[in-house]
Amino acid sequence: MLDYFDLGSDLTEEERMVRDTARQFVDEKVKPDVGEHWIEGTFPKELITEMGGLGFYAPNLDGYGLPDLSQRAYGILMQELEAGDSGLRSMASVQGALVMYPIHAFGSDEQKEEYLWDLGTGEKVGCFGLTEPEHGSNPSGMETHAEKDGDEYVLNGAKTWITNSPIADVAIVWAKDRSDDDTVRGFLVDTDVDGVSTNKIDEKLSLRASITGEIGLNDVRVNESDVLPEVAGMKGPLSCLTQARYGIAWGAIGAARDCFETARQYAIDREQFGGPIGRFQLQQDKLAEMATQITLAQLLADRLAELKERGEMRPQHVSMAKRNNVRMARDQSRIAREMLGGNGITADYSPMRHMANLETVYTYEGTHDIHTLILGEDLTGLQAYQ
Ligand SMILES: Cc1cc2nc3c(=O)[nH]c(=O)nc-3n(C[C@H](O)[C@H](O)[C@H](O)COP(=O)(O)OP(=O)(O)OC[C@H]3O[C@@H](n4cnc5c(N)ncnc54)[C@H](O)[C@@H]3O)c2cc1C
Repeated sequence: MLDYFDLGSDLTEEERMVRDTARQFVDEKVKPDVGEHWIEGTFPKELITEMGGLGFYAPNLDGYGLPDLSQRAYGILMQELEAGDSGLRSMASVQGALVMYPIHAFGSDEQKEEYLWDLGTGEKVGCFGLTEPEHGSNPSGMETHAEKDGDEYVLNGAKTWITNSPIADVAIVWAKDRSDDDTVRGFLVDTDVDGVSTNKIDEKLSLRASITGEIGLNDVRVNESDVLPEVAGMKGPLSCLTQARYGIAWGAIGAARDCFETARQYAIDREQFGGPIGRFQLQQDKLAEMATQITLAQLLADRLAELKERGEMRPQHVSMAKRNNVRMARDQSRIAREMLGGNGITADYSPMRHMANLETVYTYEGTHDIHTLILGEDLTGLQAYQ
């Protein structure tokens, strides 16, 4: 497995264990069927509790039965899961970083007790509702709103592109509180209450082994105790996105590495003109470039983990790593696909599946463009969003 600068030798015993456990899980439980799931547009739901049992959801958090692993271990886990499929890593990212993290960081003791245990084991599935049909890159323009009515709130609005909403038990819905100057708040909404609909979005050509849907909110009543009490404003959703984007910066390397390993093996096995195609300089150039780009991404992610562990990671650091590593994976997956010739366009090999998935990864959690603008603002002090 590509680790050209031997980063593995600096891992703690715990981090190595996480890597090996996740790698074995992906090899045995994911890789054999994921191509079929991808073609069918299904997620292997039986893996949801299995992943919970292995501690794959929010492993860097503590309490409530959670493992409290290092930030590097969390990143390595995301890398190994995405070597299987970006849909699998998305499941773990949404559950851990976008649902459990905000409850852990901003929830009441009652909310933590009620949700964190079951989300951690996968007995409950959560989803994160920020994006709306008319507000993607600019979520602060959201129209979903809540209005106070006695000790309840009434929610109305529509969210779209929500990972797992059709199978979720609980949704974190970000909405403007009309009773308090349109302040954005997080609401814990059980998906079986009156007025909630979670239609599935079909016909995706990317991230097919992941369930995506909408959240419709039509006069949905929630109790005031269902509001996340410790956060107000866009800081709420944005701080969750920082956690998830950190995982994506690591995860994308896994997809790229799987493409590289597939292409390397193919180059050794496939014979043309009387010998393996890997003996041609053109093919070696592609492998050398791929290995170099993956290694650079690994070094960036590793340093990011160190900064996160020290509490010195800024959201802009995460933007640079997400932007670079996902672009790298998207570019290199195409080169790997190319090296597999005609076989490369089938689901028998992973590169084209990864390549299609990475279109989503490039777009969600802040598009490549939006991370460019975040960096541009940080470097110049000048905003270029509008
Ligand atoms: C499979 C999938 C799963 C998802 N899961 C979730 C989820 O679980 N929860 C959730 O809330 N959301 C989720 N999303 C939504 C995702 O975060 C949004 O798609 C993303 O933020 C982009 O929003 P948009 O699609 O509306 O594109 P738009 O914002 O309309 O952008 C369209 C294009 O314009 C560019 N653009 C926009 N603004 C600017 C600007 N100021 N300057 C330059 N260029 C700009 C963008 O980079 C992009 O190329 C998911 C999306 C997908 C595809």
